[in-house]
Amino acid sequence: MKRAVFPGSFDPITLGHLDIIERSLPLFDEIIIAIGVNATKKYMFSLEERMQFIGDTFSSEKRIKIASYTGLTVQFCKEINARFILRGLRNTSDFNYEQPIAQTNYKMAGIESIFLIASPEVSNISSSIVRDVMRNNGDYGLLVPKTVKT
Ligand code: ADP
Repeated sequence: MKRAVFPGSFDPITLGHLDIIERSLPLFDEIIIAIGVNATKKYMFSLEERMQFIGDTFSSEKRIKIASYTGLTVQFCKEINARFILRGLRNTSDFNYEQPIAQTNYKMAGIESIFLIASPEVSNISSSIVRDVMRNNGDYGLLVPKTVKT
């Protein structure tokens, strides 16, 4: 069973996340969208809301599961028997951030990170921009799945 964990904050899920998830479905048997819970971080949406948005987005896809976890992503991967971490790359900043993490995760736990390059039509999207648009009553419809509501 090829099981991949797609970890993130998903505050909220965006069309950029959706792009990575849909394009990775042919590569894996199962994808666990896993919300990492960081007690010191402030979120716009509660964990329950973020899980609900994701659940509603993928309600018809049985191979996509949703979870939350605390602690190291590789520890969570071990617990659920996942050998792959899925991440999206928008630009060189993402690459520079991800490179040492992926190298460390492989060294620590033998977990392979798989990277997909963002599709050009969504590579401008980030959850932080979405939150900014939402806070300022902008039209966020072009940035998130229809299931995401303020
Ligand atoms: P994190 O705080 O772990 O970066 P995010 O929810 O912001 O959590 O992102 C989760 C993953 O989705 C990361 O790999 C991130 O690079 C990727 N991602 C976010 N937005 C996009 C996008 N527009 N296109 C492709 N990948 C994206």
